[in-house]
Amino acid sequence: MKENTPMQNLPPYLFARIEQKVAEAKEKGLDIISLGIGDPDQPTPKHIIDRMAKSIYDSANHQYPSSIGLLEYRSAVADWYRGRFGVELNPKTEVVTLIGSKEGIANISFAYLDKGDISLVPDPGYPVYSIGNLLAGGQTHIMPLLEQNGFLPVLEDIPSDVAAQAKLMFINYPNNPTGAVADIDFFEKVVEFAKTYDILVCHDGPYSEVSYDGLRPVSFLQARGAKEVGIEFHSLSKTYNMTGWRIGWAAGNQQAVEVLARFKSNIDSGCFQAIQYAGIEALNGPQDCVEVMRGIYQERRDIAVARLQKMGWNVIAPKGSFYFWIPVPKGHTSASFAEMILEQAGVIVTPGSGYGKYGEGYFRIALTVDKARMEEAFDRIEKAVSGKVEF
Ligand SMILES: *Cc1c(COP(=O)(O)O)cnc(C)c1O
Repeated sequence: MKENTPMQNLPPYLFARIEQKVAEAKEKGLDIISLGIGDPDQPTPKHIIDRMAKSIYDSANHQYPSSIGLLEYRSAVADWYRGRFGVELNPKTEVVTLIGSKEGIANISFAYLDKGDISLVPDPGYPVYSIGNLLAGGQTHIMPLLEQNGFLPVLEDIPSDVAAQAKLMFINYPNNPTGAVADIDFFEKVVEFAKTYDILVCHDGPYSEVSYDGLRPVSFLQARGAKEVGIEFHSLSKTYNMTGWRIGWAAGNQQAVEVLARFKSNIDSGCFQAIQYAGIEALNGPQDCVEVMRGIYQERRDIAVARLQKMGWNVIAPKGSFYFWIPVPKGHTSASFAEMILEQAGVIVTPGSGYGKYGEGYFRIALTVDKARMEEAFDRIEKAVSGKVEF
């Protein structure tokens, strides 16, 4: 049986391919350092695990959860927004629990796009925006994220006939893969644009707590009028080292929250309640673990900046997220450089072209290995490139 057309056009997920390469190299007995996947290496804080341990014995949590999520969890999300951003949310109508934000990001396209509808997607960008689009039968219009624009899309460059046909716009700050951060002025411009063209803005903000040099990124929902036109996807994955737990949320526009919740209620059965209790503990509990997390990445980022500059690399230090977006040396493509680094240094980096055509000319490293391994990775990269490349 042949799969449908969108599936025929769907390559394996970027990181599934990279994992395959790592597995092959390890089989050959090579010591590979992966700076590829952005997955926190630190454990989930103990007080969160303890809450999970307690909740798992409560048989009320063994049954189907409500698909929109526990009101207690949604209230914890609303409290967190009030405390962190000064944003008021009605937990009953403006928050939906997600089984990790990736599922919500993919599902929103199915809930909103008819065949051929346009969705505005950043390039380079998290692959799920355009994949959700492709599977739902929508069309993607690329918004290039260029260094000279601070890796923000230029809204004026979107042709008005395209904007008029667009239903969704995806944006993501702090940004994966570029490490760029947006300010409130940019978000307010997005709100105006979305109002003009009647577009639902989907802001993806899982890195709001991962930032450097004391900067505290803003939420899209802080922008004036944001709730009239958009929702924010968020997650416990990065803030509390909980990628494996699969818990997040979408919050903001009431109608969009209802649509997404109704869609989900028909295809999944919600997030395991014990995990939601752990999520409540994460959001309501002591927050010093978040400071610790920032300190760890800050130290690693500073090492990466120093090591890259010492090699002669012209780099822009990320302001947020745990990624570093680095131009490839002259004469290389993203893919050829990533391959060279794997073969000659045993280090996995992600070719920028995996994030879209405007990612060509860059590669991404994730700061999710410890200091010693990172230093080792840079020692090896330095050896592999010294005298051989020109920046
Ligand atoms: C990690 C990440 C997510 C989501 O993670 P979940 O674990 O599914 O909540 C969403 N968007 C971007 C850009 C990410 O990097």
